[in-house]
Amino acid sequence: MIVRKNMAELEKMRSAGLLVWKVLDTLRKMVAEGVTTYELEVAADKMIADAGARPAFKGYSTPSAGTKFPFVLCTSVNDEIVHGMPSQNRVLKSGDIVSIDTGVQLNGYYGDSAVTVGVGEISEETRRLLEVTRESLELAIEKARPGNRLFDICGTVERHVTANGFSIVREFVGHGIGTQMHEEPQVPNYVDRKSENPRLKEGMVLAIEPMVNAGSPGSRVRPDRWTAVTEDGKYSAHFEHTVAVTANGPWVLTRP
Ligand code: MG
Ligand code: MG
Repeated sequence: MIVRKNMAELEKMRSAGLLVWKVLDTLRKMVAEGVTTYELEVAADKMIADAGARPAFKGYSTPSAGTKFPFVLCTSVNDEIVHGMPSQNRVLKSGDIVSIDTGVQLNGYYGDSAVTVGVGEISEETRRLLEVTRESLELAIEKARPGNRLFDICGTVERHVTANGFSIVREFVGHGIGTQMHEEPQVPNYVDRKSENPRLKEGMVLAIEPMVNAGSPGSRVRPDRWTAVTEDGKYSAHFEHTVAVTANGPWVLTRP
C-alpha cells in the first residue's frame, strides 16, 4: 500500500528534508584531496545530533546484509555504487568521486538524499557521468506530478542515461518514504514491466535515486555484505532527492 501524506505530514517531512540538505551541503564543501570519508562521517554525526534528529542509516539492517549498518553516512568512492562505509583509511585523492548518502528521522518522518562529488581534477568522462546522472534525477523529478504514472519517472531516468551511453544499476532502486525510510512503491531507475505502475497522486512521497555506471550495468556486493561495487571496476554515480507529489507539482523536500 502506498501511504499518502497530508500537508501537515509533508511539513514534517520538509523539516527532515532540509536537515538532510544542510548536512550534505556542508559535506559537499568539505570534500577535498586528503580528506577521509570518516571525517565526513564525524561532521554529519554531529550535525544530525545537534539538530535533535536520529540518523536513519545507523543501525539499519536488511536480511541480505545480516548486520547493522554502523554509520550515519554511506560514502561510496569511485567503483562503489552505494552503501560504502566511511573509513579513516579512505583518503580522497584527485580524480576520485564520492557519493555521500544520508537519511535522518525527525519528528517521526524521514528524509533521504545523496550527492556525488568530484575530488580535485576529474576526467572529462567522469564529469559527464556526474552531469548525466544529476540531469536524469532532475528530469525524473519533473515527472512527479499527479496524473503521471510511476513508469514516467523510471523511464525518464532510463532514457536519459542510456541515450548518453551510460548504464543503469538494476539491483538497487528508489523507494517511497514517510514514517518509514523504505515504503512502497519501489522506484526503479528503469521500466520494470514485471512491477506495478501506479498512478501518481497528491501526497505520495518518493525517494528518487538514479545509480548510474560508466561501464556495464553489473554490480556485486563486497564481502562486508554492504558495499555494492561495479563488476567492471568503472566508476558509478548516485544522486537522490526526496520528492513529494503535490497539486502544484513536484516538491523537492531535500533542498531549499
Ligand atoms: Mg539515500
Ligand atoms: Mg534512498
